[in-house]
Amino acid sequence: MLCAQRLGSLAAGLAALRPGRAARGSLGAGIQARRVSTSWSPVGAAFNVKPQGRRLDLFRERRGLFGVPELSAPEGFYIAQEEALRKTELLVERACSTPPGPQTVLIFDELSDALCRVADLADFVKIAHPEPAFREAAEETCRSIGTMVEKLNTNVELYQSLQKLLSDKKLVDSLDVETRRVAELFMFDFEISGIHLDEEKRKRAVDLNVKILDLSSKFLMGTNFPNKIEKHLLPDHIRHNFVRDGDLVVVDGLHAEAPNDLVREAAYRIFLYPNASQLKYLEELLSNRDLLAKLVGYSTFSHRALQGTIAQKPGKPIYPPFKDKMGTIKDFEMMRQMKMKLNPQNSELMPWDPPYYSGVIRAVVHESEGLLGYIYCDFFQRADKPHQDCHFTIRGGRLKEDGDYQLPVVVLMLNLPHSSRNSPTLLTPGMMENLFHEMGHAMHSMLGRTRYQHVTGTRCPTDFAEVPSILMEYFSNDYRVVNQFARHYQTGQPLPKNMVSRLCESKKVCAAADMQLQVFYATLDQIYHGEHPLRKPTTDILKETQEKFYGLPYVPNTAWQLRFSHLVGYGAKYYSYLMSRAVASMVWKECFLQDPFNRAAGERYRREMLAHGGGKEPMLMVQGMLQKCPSIDDFVNALVSDLDLDFETFLMDSK
Ligand SMILES: [Zn+2]
Repeated sequence: MLCAQRLGSLAAGLAALRPGRAARGSLGAGIQARRVSTSWSPVGAAFNVKPQGRRLDLFRERRGLFGVPELSAPEGFYIAQEEALRKTELLVERACSTPPGPQTVLIFDELSDALCRVADLADFVKIAHPEPAFREAAEETCRSIGTMVEKLNTNVELYQSLQKLLSDKKLVDSLDVETRRVAELFMFDFEISGIHLDEEKRKRAVDLNVKILDLSSKFLMGTNFPNKIEKHLLPDHIRHNFVRDGDLVVVDGLHAEAPNDLVREAAYRIFLYPNASQLKYLEELLSNRDLLAKLVGYSTFSHRALQGTIAQKPGKPIYPPFKDKMGTIKDFEMMRQMKMKLNPQNSELMPWDPPYYSGVIRAVVHESEGLLGYIYCDFFQRADKPHQDCHFTIRGGRLKEDGDYQLPVVVLMLNLPHSSRNSPTLLTPGMMENLFHEMGHAMHSMLGRTRYQHVTGTRCPTDFAEVPSILMEYFSNDYRVVNQFARHYQTGQPLPKNMVSRLCESKKVCAAADMQLQVFYATLDQIYHGEHPLRKPTTDILKETQEKFYGLPYVPNTAWQLRFSHLVGYGAKYYSYLMSRAVASMVWKECFLQDPFNRAAGERYRREMLAHGGGKEPMLMVQGMLQKCPSIDDFVNALVSDLDLDFETFLMDSK
């Protein structure tokens, strides 16, 4: 799955969570809905071909993607897709004619697998393949499988075959825990698309879904749309910072890294100037989501989105304690001082300042480069490769009918620079952390041992999905771990300990302000997707929430929410990253901080968390690992404790 990691570091915090595959879960409901949250299965099986050895062999002739001969050419996707659709029909028939029982769940899982294995592979290829013809063929495959999914979503007979099972209490009680959960997840997928409703309502649900999709894409487009103003409205000396279009100046973003305060301010005020149609799209999107949620039986869209997650249902925001506990006041004070130093006439800290000044402060610290070995995967930059670090599961794990376990296969996609004549590829600490992060997802896939591919590895609730990857970041920031592999590429010397500690500390600088921003965004997302009709216009809610949760004031005549693209993908789940981080932090501190190589803790981690994928309620996994049931306070404290940094010492130390 694609990363929803790294908060706040992107320009002006506009795009805090990376757009993630998990985020798209809401787009394709029903059977298929969960495939987007991760992984793939072997397209090989779609051809009844055993993937041959995966050894890298440069001299053999072209064998086709993932060992599938047909995929040596783009047309192969057509064959794969036809085969998948044919198999789907057979499985639908089987599901409908088999008496209700555990077998039903197995058939559903195979059905899901048949579509996933092709669509997920295509999903990866359309992003990552270097040749356009492959990308286009893959795109087409995604579309046609998507259409099939829509059909299955409204297949009442198929739905009834599952319902027969779940409405028979005796049968349900006879299912093992994982099978039962998977059956319920499938049912949930049906229900959120409204299949249990009478025909008229179902039609209404379909209409609402179509409308929501349409509004989503319009809103998304608008979040990036540049604003233009007449050039004479901008002071002469900053105009050259923006693109010109005749007599107009085009502002296409927040220019958050611009050193000139006035440039950032102008960009902030212009780019965030409220746009009437964008405002209308957002309001309609939110109210249609609310209508859909109510139609399918939830009191708010949040309730619908949070089912099955760690949070389970929207509650009181866990956040208020943050404002006092997080040390943001210190952060803002540091930034204010830095601003005063650089710009004595105008030292008031404004919302367009934090990304720039926190960067200046962090630069205090010199970053070093350490050598990392390699793990084979798609690590290096090339033309047309998206600039995203991702983890794709090429094949999800599952127990096959013959008793064999279908082993998971993943791709780690990074964007590392190539080695040069003079030096090998050297990783910055940031790159290394990304690698560890993605490895965390990979381990989740590798060590997952679910019976069903529907819940393999990273196919778990959004707010649990980042736990394994963030946990790995803690390892990557620990000297005892780094010292195992990081060496100077010429001298072979390990990294000095104080350098590693300094680096780790530098990550905490202004982290509180970053986190506060995330808390503010997450709260906003919850309110927008909570009770409808909303008490106030979205801009008033933004203002109110910002004043309550964020340390810098709302700027009149701006409407940041209209640029908040993650409202679409993460609708009501923006808090997920914070939740995952809190859990990872607890696991790190209670199980690994004392000894990162503690074998027993590692085994427990594998057994209690990774092995279950999405096959167990996430909160039960957390309990199994921590051997206690964490409270809201524990979650909050876990986040807050990561922010501890002695600024004075840090600053003095680094002069
Ligand atoms: Zn991630």
